[in-house]
Amino acid sequence: MLETTIAGSLPKPEWLAEPGKLWAGWRLPPELLIQGQRDAVLVALKEQEAAGIDIVTDGEQSRQHFVHGFVERIQGIDFTRRISVGIRANRYKADVPVVTAELRRDRPIHRDEARWARAHTRRRLKFTIPGPMTIVDTIADEHYGDRQKLAHAFAQVINAEALELAGEGVDVIQLDEPAFNVYLDEVGDWGIACLEEAIDGLGCKTAVHICYGYGIPANRAWKDTLGEEWRQYEHIFPLLARSAVDQVSVECAGSRVPLPLLGLLKGKDVLLGCIDVATDRVETPEEVAGLIVAAQQHMPVERLYPCTNCGMVPMDRGIARKKLEVLSAGAHLARTGAQRS
Ligand code: ZN
Repeated sequence: MLETTIAGSLPKPEWLAEPGKLWAGWRLPPELLIQGQRDAVLVALKEQEAAGIDIVTDGEQSRQHFVHGFVERIQGIDFTRRISVGIRANRYKADVPVVTAELRRDRPIHRDEARWARAHTRRRLKFTIPGPMTIVDTIADEHYGDRQKLAHAFAQVINAEALELAGEGVDVIQLDEPAFNVYLDEVGDWGIACLEEAIDGLGCKTAVHICYGYGIPANRAWKDTLGEEWRQYEHIFPLLARSAVDQVSVECAGSRVPLPLLGLLKGKDVLLGCIDVATDRVETPEEVAGLIVAAQQHMPVERLYPCTNCGMVPMDRGIARKKLEVLSAGAHLARTGAQRS
């Protein structure tokens, strides 16, 4: 009960990539990079184990960015050209590659990374892949000419990849869809359909992560415009409750998401964000336990998995490590508290 997990990414060691930023460049020469990434995965796994995290990830140590690390190995995308576009409804600019031909997955994308992680932890392993809508929002397109068509094409690529990762013994495949919180109408029109296409036929647990973004200034400014109550989830949760996905990863720590909205996710596991990745202030175990107990008013405790709000890649490593320890300690406190009551 109350098993802990993380949204996905962890900060990379300084010797691997420039710390404190998204899209940080690699610091190792090409001939050393893969071994360095493998070593970083070992560190990420052991740090999660030491902190007491039950369902671990590879910390996304082998990807420069959660979207582009996936799409850079798909054929039909030109990475030599980068176009600056406003992503997440123009919230911030990103230099993105261009889809120039039909998408093809000629070879596995993250298989070797998943295999390496699987071989080095006995804990349950979650692997994250960007979701179709979020990829479409983080890329330029000169071939398909239609976001929905492009999303379906990516869904097929993701599905082939996810089936292979599940075959490697990954226990949970999570699709990251922060764009769901931005394009609320499109989620119902085609976002959920593409999500289901991407997880079709998987023999493992499936999850979707929907957050309010990393703790970067553009996201903080956006959050300030969302008012006293953040009700985006109210549009999405009923659709997800009817969908095939097993688990939903949500942002609740330090957010203005009303917890009663969790009641809209009937039948689903909730990965409850109890750790705010947008602040360096480390939560207390009591705060984490308090949030877990409050969430239990709106859903069965058996379906609750304490988690981080979002990826931790741009954070300081020491702070991220402390936050994982507190996540674990808070879940323990809530567990023992639940037994007492
Ligand atoms: Zn996130």
